[in-house]
Amino acid sequence: MDIYSSVSTLKGVGPKVLEKLNKASIFNILDLLLYFPRDYEFIGGNPTFEDIDGEIKQILTCAVTSIKRDIRTRTGKYLSTIEFDYDGHKIDGKWFNQPYVKNSYKLDNTYNLMGKFKKVGNGFQVINPVIACRSGLSSEIKPIYTLKGELTDKLLSKLVSTVMDIITISENLPKEILDKYKLIGLDESIREIHFPKDNNLLKAAIARLKFQELFTYSMKLLLLKNKIKGSSNGISIPWNDKLGELKKTLPFQLTNAQTRVVREILMDQKSHHPMNRLVQGDVGSGKTVVAFIAIYNAYTNGYKAAFMVPTEILANQHYEEAKKLLGPFGVEIELLTGSTSAKEKKRIKDRIKEKEPLVVIGTHALIQEDVDFQDLGLVVTDEQHRFGVEQRSKLINKGKRADVIVMTATPIPRTLALYLYSDLDVSAIDELPPGRKKIDTSVYRESSRNKAYELAMNEVKKGRQVYVVCPLIDEDETKQLNSVESIYKRLKEGIFSDVEVEVLHGKMKSSEKEDIINRFKDNETKVLISTTVIEVGINVPNASVMIVESAQRFGLAQLHQLRGRVGRGEYPSFCILIANIKSDTTKKRMMIMAESTDGFYIAEQDLKLRGSGEMFGMKQSGEEGLLLADIYEDMDILKYAREEAKLILENKEDENKRLVYEISQGLEKSSKYICFN
Ligand code: ADP
Ligand code: MG
Repeated sequence: MDIYSSVSTLKGVGPKVLEKLNKASIFNILDLLLYFPRDYEFIGGNPTFEDIDGEIKQILTCAVTSIKRDIRTRTGKYLSTIEFDYDGHKIDGKWFNQPYVKNSYKLDNTYNLMGKFKKVGNGFQVINPVIACRSGLSSEIKPIYTLKGELTDKLLSKLVSTVMDIITISENLPKEILDKYKLIGLDESIREIHFPKDNNLLKAAIARLKFQELFTYSMKLLLLKNKIKGSSNGISIPWNDKLGELKKTLPFQLTNAQTRVVREILMDQKSHHPMNRLVQGDVGSGKTVVAFIAIYNAYTNGYKAAFMVPTEILANQHYEEAKKLLGPFGVEIELLTGSTSAKEKKRIKDRIKEKEPLVVIGTHALIQEDVDFQDLGLVVTDEQHRFGVEQRSKLINKGKRADVIVMTATPIPRTLALYLYSDLDVSAIDELPPGRKKIDTSVYRESSRNKAYELAMNEVKKGRQVYVVCPLIDEDETKQLNSVESIYKRLKEGIFSDVEVEVLHGKMKSSEKEDIINRFKDNETKVLISTTVIEVGINVPNASVMIVESAQRFGLAQLHQLRGRVGRGEYPSFCILIANIKSDTTKKRMMIMAESTDGFYIAEQDLKLRGSGEMFGMKQSGEEGLLLADIYEDMDILKYAREEAKLILENKEDENKRLVYEISQGLEKSSKYICFN
């Protein structure tokens, strides 16, 4: 048995269990080992004062000293409070909307209270703790996995331990690196992350695995860079006179920044080196038209051009735009997405194989194995933060010598960009088209939500349209967040009862999504309640209000993107962030949004706040495949890991050849960054 063997080779995995595992995307042993716990319970219990750690669940045997009267919070929840004593320290237990819990506690009795005990003042606070049952537990720290379908923690623990009994994972980082950064071994870290012996070892395991991920990640980026540099001479696409005609037909004049970036791109196209350029431009700066100009230039010189975007909605939108802009010049354009019918797909793929010039706009479908580009001259990827390294690499393989433009509106702090994109040349569209109205941004507490919707209603009466973005699709009882469905219900039964309101989320069928977007574009729907599927690219100039529910749950870059959906036309626009503000950091983050519309400023501030150690509810980087590391939060590790990866690639010592080989093999195959020899 090796790590690529099916889990069905494990003792105790019959057809039924196999099905359960497969449902959670666990197919082979490696998948199983990389199915890390999402949390831990410290059932050993009763740590010393110094070892109480608010980040992890622990069990403290405490005595009830006082049971408080329930209060109603401003947001309408019941708050129950019980005070405990733990070894002379005061502990506030707080429960939301569970008035019945009081019945389980009696004054002066002691209980094994389990939860995350956070230091507040001289004592501790624990939210929604439970009484731990301590019988039959063998280990001190119990892993808690994300349970999908019928998986149980017990089953997963048992299977992992079966594997760990029979295999040893060989080390894949050079000893010097392990020593230098005081990292524990790979085998040990995998054991510890599943079955931590103690808190320190758990932390060591996480540190090692984060390093591993960021090391592999950096190595992949560097290999990608070498691949681009090493690819044979690029093609040279001269400037075509027809470009002037295209410019004349544009409904607007290019901004100076757009003109400058177009020139940079055209120079790259003309040169014999393959272009590899990042075009950064804030939301609404007009990147699309810049891409179309480059695409048109490639096309008129007889090449194919591919325009790849992360969502079907965006692909459709660009397709329509391209037809409008380039269609009149006789440019042939095809749309290829996941929902293109099989027959259509075949027809388009056949066309792609032919020698005729063609523009293809699409999603990931564009990089599937059987899409075989003939004479690909240019590849543009839009909103690239959704594309991982593997996908970029695949694309480059498609058009062996093709030029590559990567466009992004995610303002990446300069410091970070250095680590992530050092392989790219950078162009910046650092100017917005004239006449853009500043988007009036305000932050409301949940209790003043109605005021936000009244403002929205006013705008609807003026003929404008409104977006409402929520973090979830369905109601989530435990986290008390607002979902698309619950907001829809509330608004439709209330203030928007006479207004056309629709719901949009990622789980819908593509055709359904497309219809909904089209009705919004055509101004049939006035209010669109959506998840972040509308985050990138959607362009509806008549929309003037963006309301974000539970805004504290979103990253600032994401909020900035969402805000960019309004203020695209001639109308004054509003962005209202409805936030549940519990901490100073949340408050600061919301204020940053209110005071600035400059994406770079926001990104830098965000990074500074992250440096303060605050954890946010959602991952922002969006780089797929990173299980533990977060590019923003673990920037320090990224810095070192990248340095080491670079050294190894440069030195090519014999003993490291295998490591480099393994990683380069996995460059496109695996989207995970922890790999074993
Ligand atoms: P983004 O950079 O966010 O992708 P888009 O390319 O979607 O921005 O452009 C946003 C809007 O601005 C579109 O409606 C587009 O037609 C318009 N636009 C682009 N360039 C200009 C310009 N130079 N002057 C006026 N409007 C422009
Ligand atoms: Mg765009």
